[in-house]
Amino acid sequence: MIRNEIPRADYAHMGGSGTWGGDFPDNTGIAGVRVLERDMEFETPFGTTVPMMLFEIPAEMTADHLPHTVLDIPFHGWFGLSPYHDTPSERVFWVLQRAGVKYIVADGSGGGINPLLDPGDVIIPDDLIDQTKRISYLSKFTDKIVRMRDIVCPDLAQLLYQEACKEYPRVFGRGIYAVDEAPRFETKAEIRRLYDQHCDICGHTMMPEAALARAIGACYAAIYLVSNTAEGINPDWKRPIFDLYHECADKFGRIVINTLAAIDPAKKQCRCKEYLLPVPGDVNTRMNAK
Ligand SMILES: [Zn+2]
Repeated sequence: MIRNEIPRADYAHMGGSGTWGGDFPDNTGIAGVRVLERDMEFETPFGTTVPMMLFEIPAEMTADHLPHTVLDIPFHGWFGLSPYHDTPSERVFWVLQRAGVKYIVADGSGGGINPLLDPGDVIIPDDLIDQTKRISYLSKFTDKIVRMRDIVCPDLAQLLYQEACKEYPRVFGRGIYAVDEAPRFETKAEIRRLYDQHCDICGHTMMPEAALARAIGACYAAIYLVSNTAEGINPDWKRPIFDLYHECADKFGRIVINTLAAIDPAKKQCRCKEYLLPVPGDVNTRMNAK
């Protein structure tokens, strides 16, 4: 249902294939998390959003002893599996910006390029390579230059790592995520090239999310299940990826909620906000001169 008022929320969860196999957040078994609203769609200059949910993590669970209100976006805001002719992320971030979101946790899955990764492992990348060819609308969100230093917030990544270690035996706290365009996976030769470029995992969702999060001044970190080995890395791997999605949904749901609960704004040490660079006034004047 279309809503005219955007609710305030400091926190957002960008749901993905880490959580889509379960009925989030009810499937997590965490008592006290309360769904405030469901089925909230918003009209934006880029089009209508997917239906979002609003939930609250109670003060008894959070690091700062305040309730955390979370905007929940299903499957990265996508409509189906072919979003790249379209602007699903921009629609979502237009809403997140107006909601005042400051902390974003995303989940997903990807193909393991690094041969040390096994399906079922978990990785929290600390950097990315954007291989997509889609149009950038960053300038619709900020008039500053978007610097990509520490594009994954080290504070949020550390919290994700701590929570993931409670659920999984093998968690990797860094790595490079190669962003490709859905809905296709990569060829064997493309994966060989990505391996040569030191990429550890490939997927479809970390961009433009990470850059849009920076553009709206929010901290962003994401956690991924290794759902398969990338093309050519382990041709003997035969297990359907959808089996793993169902197995990981409850665990990923708990990791997401407990990470969002563990954020204490007063104790944050990251410098994410400093990486939006204002253009000096005189340069701006010359750039915009007709
Ligand atoms: Zn940060």
